Amino acid sequence: QEEMEQQNETAYEKESAKAFVPYAVLCRTFEKCEETTKRLAITENLVTLFIQLCPDYEGLELGIGESLLMKAIARSTGRSMKVLKDDYTTIGDLGTVAKNSKGSQRTLFKPKPLTTGHVFKTLKEIARLSGQSSQNKKVDKIQGLLVACQENEAKYVIRQLEGKLRIGMAEQTVLSALAQASVMNKPDYEKWPQQKKEESLATATDILKSVHNQLPNYDMIVPALLKYPIDQLLSKCTMRPGIPLKPMLAHPTKSLPEILDRFQDQAFTCEYKYDGERAQIHRTEDGKISIYSRNSEDMSVRYPDIMESISKWIPSSTSSFILDCEAVAWDIEKGSILPFQILSTRKRKDVREDEITVRVAIYAFDCLYLNGKSLLQEPFQERRRLLHSSFIETKNQFYFAEYMNSTDISDIQTFLDVSIQNNCEGLMVKSFDGKHATYEPSRRSRNWLKVKKDYLNGMGDSMDLVVMGAYHGRGKRTSVYGGFLLGCYDPDTEEFQTICKIGTGFSEEILKTLYEQLKPHIIPQPKKFYCLGDNPATPDIWFEPSVIFEVKCADLSISPTYMAGVGQVNDAKGISLRFPRFIRLREDKEPEQATSSGQIVEFYFAQSNI
Ligand code: ATP
Repeated sequence: QEEMEQQNETAYEKESAKAFVPYAVLCRTFEKCEETTKRLAITENLVTLFIQLCPDYEGLELGIGESLLMKAIARSTGRSMKVLKDDYTTIGDLGTVAKNSKGSQRTLFKPKPLTTGHVFKTLKEIARLSGQSSQNKKVDKIQGLLVACQENEAKYVIRQLEGKLRIGMAEQTVLSALAQASVMNKPDYEKWPQQKKEESLATATDILKSVHNQLPNYDMIVPALLKYPIDQLLSKCTMRPGIPLKPMLAHPTKSLPEILDRFQDQAFTCEYKYDGERAQIHRTEDGKISIYSRNSEDMSVRYPDIMESISKWIPSSTSSFILDCEAVAWDIEKGSILPFQILSTRKRKDVREDEITVRVAIYAFDCLYLNGKSLLQEPFQERRRLLHSSFIETKNQFYFAEYMNSTDISDIQTFLDVSIQNNCEGLMVKSFDGKHATYEPSRRSRNWLKVKKDYLNGMGDSMDLVVMGAYHGRGKRTSVYGGFLLGCYDPDTEEFQTICKIGTGFSEEILKTLYEQLKPHIIPQPKKFYCLGDNPATPDIWFEPSVIFEVKCADLSISPTYMAGVGQVNDAKGISLRFPRFIRLREDKEPEQATSSGQIVEFYFAQSNI
């Protein structure tokens, strides 16, 4: 076994020169990034160091629980669980606890320095361990890493295992740093006039961002960047089936006239907004099929039934493709869509086809790649035509999204009403023709508008908020939580900002589920990246960010207690939700995909009474 591991490691290290980068160098950069909140300084730190990041779609779920990590720290440092827990309560960051514990430990001999490649490979192995006794094996592997840690390495090993580095290194910063490094690498860069430096940097950043949107994989982008001039990158790093694109997102609207105002004399088309789960379906030239979630996670094993049926919808003239679709719960007897609540009861892990009780059907609404060619730059009208002519609607399994091209407001109203009778959430209204009708990966674009059924009841859209804390229940709710502290996410500062306390809209059953679901995420103190303000709302229990609620509210107001969008509307106050109501759990979103503080500020200003 050991020999095999050794061989694998050698193969891995040969494959990637960066595998030899001492892990200590990486950690020193992390430390420098953590010490500053200045984006420029972080970029500068990164420019000097390219790091290998694992793409989302490889489905590496680290997020190792605290108790397991503590066990490994205890075993590798000889400290007791009780002492570690006390330290953790005082310090609030398990990474620092691990580092301090190592610091106070006396060692007889100095361990061999860790390489980035070895740490990365071990993290991957840990993430992939599953099944019986996997917990013990994980602790063993973590212990192995911790024993070899020097300086501040234990701090970041633990944070990487927790699933979040939280050093203020957002994706956009990594991309800007790569762009900067590629420009600075050019011959004679030092002698260039300032204006040329700035223009080249702006162009390089734009190129890298669009390349990353289409091919979100640093393992491919960085080697291409080293090999080709940056202006060739877009043609060298093209999208391809097997690598999920970040999906295009829509802007909310509050009324039908708003749609007409937005599009004016531009062509647009309406589609049902299906209420299920986004599914990006890929087929490579050699026939490999995969299904990816909104988060670019590989969901193929979750949908064995769809995987099985796909061949029926593909005529022989269609080879490779990427389809943008929604998977909805399906009533086979009636041949109709079931509400989202039914889909959410479908098993998410270890799905066996013979055990499936909730059937799903696929509604395809876009075709992004077909027979070896990207369609991103084609107008939607053409993409829809190709979708309809290259796939076959298959009863109870695969359908094209219902659409209507009339721009008459009463036709749109009728189409909206019918969509809702059919268990849809409302409509998507999309730019249809011309240069505004291209597919814009990862962008929340005004070329796609969403109209939800209750847009007339005040708020145009619901919000997806992170559970930061909870309040003990009283009366009927004594054995569960009675209320929760929620927050939105600020991608610029990488902070979660409090937005409201919520206690309405929960069934007794969901409260019980939440009590159990949140248990492993309890932390003794709020995280450093929780923005709480000077008059904080203090819950009885704190959680690390993990669970997301979809929430509606009556309106938004300025508050001294809650911090959403602080600094954007008022220097010291944030925005809070009035009369928030729980709608459902969002299991398909990561905490960083919660509604952003920028969106909250937009919602605030969109209120008619402001
Ligand atoms: P966000 O709030 O970040 O926009 P979300 O996942 O909450 O993300 P929604 O507000 O529900 O998004 O609206 C967009 C989603 O609607 C898409 O991600 C997709 O899953 C779904 N959808 C259903 N029907 C369509 C359609 N015809 N065209 C595009 N998206 C559709």
